[in-house]
Amino acid sequence: MLTLKNIHKIYNKGKANEFEALKGIDFKIDDGELVAIIGKSGAGKSTLLHILACIDSYESGEYHIDDTLVKKLNERKLADIRNRKIGMVMQDFALVEDFSCIENVLLPLDFSHKKGADKKEIAMKALKAVEMDSMAKKPVSKLSGGQKQRVAIARAIVNKPSIILADEPTGALDTKTSAEIMKLFHTLNNQGKTIIIVTHDLEIAKQCDRIIEISDGKIV
Ligand code: ADP
Ligand code: MG
Repeated sequence: MLTLKNIHKIYNKGKANEFEALKGIDFKIDDGELVAIIGKSGAGKSTLLHILACIDSYESGEYHIDDTLVKKLNERKLADIRNRKIGMVMQDFALVEDFSCIENVLLPLDFSHKKGADKKEIAMKALKAVEMDSMAKKPVSKLSGGQKQRVAIARAIVNKPSIILADEPTGALDTKTSAEIMKLFHTLNNQGKTIIIVTHDLEIAKQCDRIIEISDGKIV
């Protein structure tokens, strides 16, 4: 379970360009939920997702993942939580274009102590889950947008996280491809994963169990 209590995020604190991007965010997300976070551009969606993903900090409030308070943890502890619990699908894929699909999916396994052959098998399984195993050796630069998003999802699930966070995962895709990607998220959700999708597309949001709307750094 994810619990946020009165989360405030301030960029450039103490400087002339100080900006409060999140102004007291409260919500809970239960295990196995499929939730959409919607809001206009600049509302604070990515900021919120980065805090949920433990890749950014916050100024006040409390964020718990299960019983762990994610606050003032050292980088090693944060990395450990990210590796064990969270898979992140970044905005615009954030894949290494020159690498093949499998090389991209292997990246999060770099730090694990498994043998090379085992890592490859795990990466292939993740590619299979998104139906990209047949293109494992293809460079990412040669893929379509939908195929890139599948590889990005494979990379997010390769460490078997219980939580998947996705930032505008259909933002760069046409309607048909978006529907296929949403189907994939539904399949992962049916396998028990908690999924949080940030989107500004209400049609995508309506396909989720619950919608959290944020405007100007606050829940509406
Ligand atoms: P969204 O994802 O909803 O479009 P963001 O979370 O990216 O919104 O941004 C929310 C607000 O915070 C915006 O006004 C943005 O300009 C500001 N912001 C985001 N990142 C930074 C940063 N690193 N430094 C300063 N301001 C930022
Ligand atoms: Mg954003």
